Order: sequence, then structure tokens, then C-alpha cells
Amino acid sequence: MAQIIDGNRVRDDIKEELKPRIARLVAAKRAPALAVVLVGHNPASEIYVRSKVKTAQDLGICSESLTPPDSISTEELLAIIEQLNARSDVDGILVQLPLPKQVDTKRILLAVAPEKDVDGFHPYNVGCLVAKLPAPRACTPAGIIELLKRYNIPIAGKRAVVVGRSNIVGKPAALMLLHENATVTVCHTKTTDLAAVCREADILVAAAGRPALITGDFLKPGATVIDVGTNRLDSRDDVARIFRNSAEKLAAFDKKGSVLIGDVNPLDVAEKAGAYTPVPGGVGPLTIAMLMVNTVESAERRLGVC
Ligand code: NAP
Repeated sequence: MAQIIDGNRVRDDIKEELKPRIARLVAAKRAPALAVVLVGHNPASEIYVRSKVKTAQDLGICSESLTPPDSISTEELLAIIEQLNARSDVDGILVQLPLPKQVDTKRILLAVAPEKDVDGFHPYNVGCLVAKLPAPRACTPAGIIELLKRYNIPIAGKRAVVVGRSNIVGKPAALMLLHENATVTVCHTKTTDLAAVCREADILVAAAGRPALITGDFLKPGATVIDVGTNRLDSRDDVARIFRNSAEKLAAFDKKGSVLIGDVNPLDVAEKAGAYTPVPGGVGPLTIAMLMVNTVESAERRLGVC
């Protein structure tokens, strides 16, 4: 059976390791501080922000939520970002996406001071990643590298295939794997014979946002499979097919009307991979943990405490 890469355990380890660093900051200057900007009332965004704020609070990171209304204009939101940029008591700024339609998301993300960009989305920080210079790194891909390293999965010299080329997951994940000396292929919707390319992977990162896209015939036996996908199956037939009539999954579907699933077929990967991240409990927990790491690192840099 494949080894399960336990994201909850790695998240807890990372949080434990942050505690003495936060204590050092408090003793020397002050607690790290994260400002979260949540525009309007998107229920999914509200859940994400709640768990980011809670994690920060549990660790003793000061967190401040700013909740402007849905009707906010680009200029008004830019003014909020400028104020946060100028505040010496704020180390990290996170603008929860998506923003309402009338707001120019690109301008907002560009306005965040790069040294406070704890999401690692600012083009300056993306450039630093390309150039392999120290800077805040996108949290989900940084979490993937943590999972691989902490499970002693060799990266150097291995063939890595990343399915997905988004700015927040696929592209930065590919660059981070390249910096770890993997030989990296990036796939997307125009890739010819995706299954054949994936079968070459010693490390397969699935970040397509397509439920159970990666099936057994995409997998090299013994490969490490990192499933970033977070999808909902809302058809009972799909649940029955993908989970091979699992009574447990069908009961979960009947109760909630949907079932969470990644981009990788969960039964196939368990049978064929060497190690894999489950959904839930794999990559997901790392994203917030790495946000906390970025916030603490920003505070250390800004306050001169290392
Ligand atoms: P995205 O912006 O929609 O990008 C998806 C990428 O996958 C695109 O590059 C797309 O190719 C490619 N793709 C889609 N269908 C494909 C197919 N059939 N074959 C090959 N490539 C395909 O998504 P994202 O923001 O990167 O997120 C990806 C998934 O990760 C989503 O399920 C998201 O919910 C999840 N996610 C999870 C976390 C976490 O913390 N666990 C964090 C972020 C995202 P094109 O470029 O050609 O369109």
C-alpha cells in the first residue's frame, strides 16, 4: 500500500517550529502582525479567512481583519492597501480573493508592498522566485515542497510533472521543483496525451481543479502523487463510479449532497503510488501553515530579529 503523506501532521510540526520564533519576536520587539482584507460576504472566503485568523491567533500572531463592503471601488481599496503598507505595526497583508467584479484585482495585488505580500503573489516576489532570491513564496506550492522534504522524498534528479499552470499553484510549484533540481514538465489543457506525460513522473503534482482527472493509467508505479485539487462531486453516480460504490462515501453524499475530492482518483492512487497526499488532509493544511511562516519571516526581516 502507498504511504499517506499526512498534511495535518506536517502542518502541526510547522506550527510548533514557529512558536519559539514568535516568542523571540515578542521578547525582542512585538508579535508578528497580519492584516487580512476580506471584501463583502463571499461564504467560502469568509470560511478561509476565519481559519487563517484563528490559526494566527492560536500561534500568538496579531491578526486584524478589514471588511469593506461589496460595493467598494478599486480606488477605495487601494487607499486601504496604502494605509496598511505604511503601517509599521503590520508585517503581512493578505487580500482574500476573489474580489468583486468592479474591483481591478491586478491593481490591488500590485499595490501590496512586496515585503508584506505574505501570499507571494506580487510580480516582484514571483520574479524573486524565478531568480531564486529570498522573498515570500506562494503558500500552496511552498507547502508541497515542505511535504516532500519532510517525508524524505528525493526531488533532485527526479522527473516531476505538474498538471496546471496557474500563477498561484502550477507555475510556482514547477519553479520550486526546478530549484530543488527536479527535471520538470508543466502540463495544461493543450498538452497532448496527458496520461503518457504523467506516467513519466516520479513526482506528480495535480493542480488542475478537475475531479479525479488523474486515474491509475496516469501513474508510474511507486510515484509520489501530490493532489492539490479541491473539488466537490455533486452527482451521486459520479460518487458511486469514482469510489467504486463505497457505502461510506455514498452515505456522506446522501447526507451533504456532495463529496470532496481531489484531482486524483483516490482509490487508484492508493493502489499504485508509492506515496500520496489524501484529499482532505494532504496539501490543504499546508497552505495556511505556510502563510504563517511567511508572516513570521516578514516580521523577522522587518524587525531585524532572526
Ligand atoms: P486554475 O487557476 O483553474 O488552473 C487550473 C490549471 O489546470 C490551468 O492551467 C488549466 O490549464 C489546467 N487544467 C485544467 N483542466 C485540465 C485538464 N483536463 N488537463 C490538463 N490541464 C488542465 O486552478 P488553481 O487555482 O491552480 O487550482 C487548482 C486546484 O487546486 C483547484 O481544485 C483549487 O481548488 C485547488 N487549490 C487548492 C489549494 C489548497 O490549499 N489545497 C490551494 C489553491 C488551489 P489551462 O491553463 O490550459 O487552462
